[in-house]
Amino acid sequence: MICIKCGKNNDKVLDSRPTEDGYSIRRRRECIECGYRFSTVERIEDLYPTVIKKNGTREPFMADKIMASLNIACSKRGVSPQDKEKIVAEISDKVNNTYNREITSSEIGEFIMNRLRNMDKVAYVRFASVYKDFTDPQSFADEVSRISDENQASSENNR
Ligand SMILES: [Zn+2]
Repeated sequence: MICIKCGKNNDKVLDSRPTEDGYSIRRRRECIECGYRFSTVERIEDLYPTVIKKNGTREPFMADKIMASLNIACSKRGVSPQDKEKIVAEISDKVNNTYNREITSSEIGEFIMNRLRNMDKVAYVRFASVYKDFTDPQSFADEVSRISDENQASSENNR
């Protein structure tokens, strides 16, 4: 690193430690030429975007959280662990490719709902009831009846 005081490129690292969020390393450096001390921060280049939750707080993107909510939504449903792994991988890729610095938890919730809707209606409704912003009980009831209409339509088509 070039010293911002004397402009020479000759320093040593005194100390390295992870930052509070654990996603970067802070290094304390000293210029060997003039003795000036400064810090640098090192980050992973293709870092996932920060997730902004509904209450405004931020947290790092964690694929494990998607898996945890899938496990709850798909409890006792015929969704295989492989299918769940696949959804988690797809959504992680999508988040990494589509968004740069920030993504809201609702946007991630939409991705999950879109995948579940086509796979398992019950899991979808369970997930939606938690993650979608149903403003009142009626909108939840509407969603459930819309889903059962779809189910009915598809079973009639199968006859
Ligand atoms: Zn210097």
